[in-house]
Amino acid sequence: MDALEQFRTETRQWLEENCPESMRCPVNGMYEQVWGGRNVEFQTEDQRTWFEAMLSRGWFCPDWSTDYGGGGLSAEYNQVLKEELRRIKARPAQVNLGVWMTGPVILEFGTEEQKLEHLTKIAKGEIRWCQGYSEPGAGSDLAGLQCKAVRDGDDFIINGSKIWTSYADESDWIYCLVRTDFDAPKREGITFILFDMTTEGVSTKPIELTNGEKHFCQTFFDNVRVPVKNVIGEINKGWTVAKRVLEFERAMMAEIEETAARPADNPAVLAKQYLGTSHNKIADRSIRDRVAQNGMNFEAFDITMQRVVDEFTENDPLAGMAAVIAKYQGTEEDKRKYQLIMDIMGTQGIGWEGDSFSADELRMSKQCLSTYAHTIAGGTSEVQLNIIAKRVLGLPD
Ligand SMILES: Cc1cc2nc3c(=O)[nH]c(=O)nc-3n(C[C@H](O)[C@H](O)[C@H](O)COP(=O)(O)OP(=O)(O)OC[C@H]3O[C@@H](n4cnc5c(N)ncnc54)[C@H](O)[C@@H]3O)c2cc1C
Repeated sequence: MDALEQFRTETRQWLEENCPESMRCPVNGMYEQVWGGRNVEFQTEDQRTWFEAMLSRGWFCPDWSTDYGGGGLSAEYNQVLKEELRRIKARPAQVNLGVWMTGPVILEFGTEEQKLEHLTKIAKGEIRWCQGYSEPGAGSDLAGLQCKAVRDGDDFIINGSKIWTSYADESDWIYCLVRTDFDAPKREGITFILFDMTTEGVSTKPIELTNGEKHFCQTFFDNVRVPVKNVIGEINKGWTVAKRVLEFERAMMAEIEETAARPADNPAVLAKQYLGTSHNKIADRSIRDRVAQNGMNFEAFDITMQRVVDEFTENDPLAGMAAVIAKYQGTEEDKRKYQLIMDIMGTQGIGWEGDSFSADELRMSKQCLSTYAHTIAGGTSEVQLNIIAKRVLGLPD
């Protein structure tokens, strides 16, 4: 047996022994996920066991160097690990923007000092990160951001506000885009900077979503003093770093869509349950067609995503564009799936509270609304289509 196959056998056995049964199915909503950080919380002992097991191997970041707390796996070995995790439908043991975005960007643009300071903490799940990009006047037109950072010796003084900052009130650090040159063309005066959310002058105010959750915040910066050494990449050249993060984010969003499909939310099963069967088929013919189409689309998406995730790890220059397409397709298909489920469930699908709805029915109506949000987060579907038109199809602006 060659070394790679040996690794597969050992990994399979290790996962068998260390991944609890309840961690081998998709999460039932964001709140079942374990977010790392200073205040990491476990809702079950199995979550803690799985978190600690993966941590012990450095497998939150399997392909990072062991010098930075990673697993030290080469691309080939990392691929085997991914396949084995996928085979048993293992949940991510930790969810953290640090793993998906801050870490990769520090690896690519950071100094050795920044790597040593941040990567190990990310790889160990000790710090939870949030993203300070959008502002009240800058969403799709992100480069129009106005949050201001003025140099004061070895520090920047930051003033302004960010909006839609997911989990800002629960995060430990933020990676943030600030304007450091107001005279330069808008993409050339932006700087990418990191700071601790407990720094004096940082405050957050939660915003309630249409589905009742409160994971968004408006985040305010009032004379926040941040060392210049926390800049990633060059001052005024943050747009390049920012775009790279968006590529990572889109890949993450697509990956979430791929792994988040809950077995309970299967349109075929629900259609039989709510609409009945005829000759063991879904009774309603038009719903049957839509269920089949949705199932085929997801199957195709799943296979394509496996390829996208593999290409992305291997730094293929096309992977960034594949992530844009996958983000668009994955989130739009998920939205169509929940619209279909709402049509299947009829009035039972629009419950908000009350005894006439089961817990699953109440969750489903909220989940349906969340799918709309996913087509906006990380850049709206329209913006993804613009990027595809321009950078993949070569159409004029
Ligand atoms: C679930 C969720 C999580 C998020 N988390 C974060 C976060 O953690 N940090 C963060 O910084 N931001 C976050 N956001 C914000 C997100 O990045 C923005 O909402 C998004 O970029 C859109 O910006 P906007 O809301 O200002 O809408 P706008 O940019 O005002 O867009 C309004 C509408 O106009 C359309 N539009 C705008 N420009 C064009 C164009 N050129 N061509 C065609 N149509 C266009 C858009 O598609 C949209 O339909 C999150 C959003 C969501 C929904």
